Amino acid sequence: MLRDMSEKVSYLQGLTEGLNITEGGPQGKIISGMLNVMNEMANELSLMQQDFSEIKEYIENIDDDLFELEESILEEEEFTQIKCLNCGEKLLIENDILDDEDRIEVICPSCNEVVYVNDGSFDYVTDDPDDQSVN
Ligand SMILES: [Zn+2]
Repeated sequence: MLRDMSEKVSYLQGLTEGLNITEGGPQGKIISGMLNVMNEMANELSLMQQDFSEIKEYIENIDDDLFELEESILEEEEFTQIKCLNCGEKLLIENDILDDEDRIEVICPSCNEVVYVNDGSFDYVTDDPDDQSVN
């Protein structure tokens, strides 16, 4: 559509030259002046359209990244990875269990040791490299 605009302006500019309008006094000067302005506007709009599609693409990328980030946050929120202190087995425990009102013992499937009890007294080792409080 913008290309059409540029083409129409170019066509009109060619027409004014062909009809010698530009040499036809003040009106010709105004017409050719107007066509020059229209040509600049068409170019300017074309540049803006390029910028706009770049920004649009950029926003779409941000949107995708945000979606992935939300997914990874949701995944992290659902499970906590803990390590069995007895055999080193890594387990994923649902956070619902950690927060449950009832006392729940988590048993290591590998060595049957109690890995975690949700009564608040049980220290557990996460496999989170940022967590250096326990290890
Ligand atoms: Zn174990």
